[in-house]
Amino acid sequence: MKPRNEHERRVVALSAKLPGITYKQKMWARKHCFIPIGYPCKGEVWCSQCGAMMLHEGKAKGKKVCPMCGSHLELKASQKKRIKEKVYFTVLARVEEFQVCRHFAVEKRMEKYGYPDYIINEAVQSVADMAEEGAKMRHCVYENGYYKKDESLILSARDHDGNRIETIEVSLKTYDVVQSRGVCNKNTEWHNEIVNLVRSNMHLIRGVA
Ligand SMILES: [Zn+2]
Repeated sequence: MKPRNEHERRVVALSAKLPGITYKQKMWARKHCFIPIGYPCKGEVWCSQCGAMMLHEGKAKGKKVCPMCGSHLELKASQKKRIKEKVYFTVLARVEEFQVCRHFAVEKRMEKYGYPDYIINEAVQSVADMAEEGAKMRHCVYENGYYKKDESLILSARDHDGNRIETIEVSLKTYDVVQSRGVCNKNTEWHNEIVNLVRSNMHLIRGVA
């Protein structure tokens, strides 16, 4: 992005200071981004997660647990000899009053009888200005400086057109929704739906935070 004003110049400068992806985040991506599949072929099953080959008698469909990595594999008959898959995942970070969604591409490559290789590259960043969120929503998430707390994650619920509906504060200590507020601290008609949606996806926040 080419910065057009002081605010944008600050975002660009801060973006350059973002740390690299952590070991824990990398491991999370390896484990959770790919669907674990077992490829049965000639009495053996090939684990798409760790590359292990295991003996297999019986049908070439159903489920099997990999004894090496513990993945629950979905069996899929195939003559496949190599795997090349690419998916995207998002990491949330905070720099001063900005929250940054960092979108990474993770590519997995593996040859039969070999180990998987992972290549992770940052694809794009989207920046949310929490002070601006607060100013637009005129509520306490901004006034109390919640967005500056290390143990809080602030999410912005938007409609299809990108309009702000509610701001959600999630505790990174208890992994629960602390509060979700609409304009002027009011709850909206979507309040329960938003809170339930965040709660049901908490495992994703827990995985990377
Ligand atoms: Zn395995």
